[in-house]
Amino acid sequence: MAPMEQGTGAFFDATARTVADRDLRRKLENAVGHHLEQMGKVRAQFPAYDAERDAARRIKHEALGKLDSLLLELKEQLEGRGCKVFFAASAAEARDYVVSLARQHGVKRIVKGKSMVSEEIELNAALEAAAMEVVETDLGEYIVQLRHERPSHIVAPAIHLAKEDVAELFHQKLGIPYTTEAEQLTAAARARLRATFLAAEMGITGVNFAVAETGTLVLVENEGNGRLSSTLPELFVALMGIEKVIPRLGDLSHFIEVLARTGTGQKITTYTNFISGPRRPGELDGPGEMHLVIVDNGRSAMLADPVLREALYCLRCGACLNVCPVYRRIGGHAYGSPYSGPIGSIVSPTFFGNDFGHLPFASTLCGACKEICPVRIDIPRILLHLRWRLSQAVRPVAWPPSAQRARRGARLLARFFRHPRLVRAAGVLGALVLRPLARNGFIKRLPPPFNAWTQARDLPALRMRPWFADTPRQDRD
Ligand code: SF4
Repeated sequence: MAPMEQGTGAFFDATARTVADRDLRRKLENAVGHHLEQMGKVRAQFPAYDAERDAARRIKHEALGKLDSLLLELKEQLEGRGCKVFFAASAAEARDYVVSLARQHGVKRIVKGKSMVSEEIELNAALEAAAMEVVETDLGEYIVQLRHERPSHIVAPAIHLAKEDVAELFHQKLGIPYTTEAEQLTAAARARLRATFLAAEMGITGVNFAVAETGTLVLVENEGNGRLSSTLPELFVALMGIEKVIPRLGDLSHFIEVLARTGTGQKITTYTNFISGPRRPGELDGPGEMHLVIVDNGRSAMLADPVLREALYCLRCGACLNVCPVYRRIGGHAYGSPYSGPIGSIVSPTFFGNDFGHLPFASTLCGACKEICPVRIDIPRILLHLRWRLSQAVRPVAWPPSAQRARRGARLLARFFRHPRLVRAAGVLGALVLRPLARNGFIKRLPPPFNAWTQARDLPALRMRPWFADTPRQDRD
């Protein structure tokens, strides 16, 4: 798998590449369009949706206020049933714990359910470096693993691919006849994964919620692979960030009501797994040994920041990516981080350092993410806060030539806009020059060097009388 791309230069290069990729844009628009339509339907059928969002937000607020005691309660409950709990301060500590555990047990084959924390700590690479075979069992993750790629979306890892891409991939890698029939493609993956599940000595999954009161790990999924990864192998490891803990079992329903509705446009996911420990004497199913790794990796620092801590409410539903105009143009891989989109732009600088410090600037601050977020995280406010914080902390970096040109242009524009008469005159001149190109109030094609603007959108025809001429002077000032 490609290493994480880092730094402003890599980001500019990646966005230039992906913005020009019309095929990628079409695939993203298809997928997110379908998601938003589905989400709209299920939300309309559930009048209590907004009340549930408020309840979920309140619970997150409460949980973060007493995170230390909740985590200790969770640990005590789980350890009482024989589960081993390890607190990892950093990604390296979490990785080392899982790798040495696998070594101690002589593990050769590992099956993994979906886990963003495992992406965050780059666990697969560490296990593979220790000569172990790791197989992703979520279909989207399996597809991107076969392509040696990272997931390009928190919930839909292969959202950047069409079924034709998957058909070609399976034909090449799995040796099946080329077909675009989704059922046949799924059946081919299932047949291979079934044998892998049965042979694996270790299973790894993420955790959606951890209930402190009862010591229960909750895993929501649609494919059943999380259930198989957590029950079939003799050794099971669950990975979670410290923020996943909630106080009571009774709190859970509020999250379940909003998570699938916002994340996948379903009323509820197909499977909601409750995991409370290893197999007990007399039980037939479940792992003989279970470990929970609770990862900090910068989250405590987020918690200590009064603005940034709200990002720890995140349920990783992925909806903010689907509505983000930046994500929809550049796709997930351009971010260079496993966490992409608006929430990725917030957490990546914390988890992966200042090489990702440019990401909070990759936003239009349109506010669509805040509107859709099931726990109403004020993402634009946090992004602005991070911009301010990073501008205080980071010394000027070596901007690439394209960025230098953009900065020079922005400075010129700033000077230009200080002269309203000049702006008005330029507007009138522009309207006159462009008038022959306008049809029904829009200009479909601008001449070079402005033609890039109209490659993907129409430009409203300029008015002879600029907008600010209608505004009283005192309001303008
Ligand atoms: S920030 Fe909100 S919308 Fe975005 S992934 Fe997290 S919970 Fe979902």
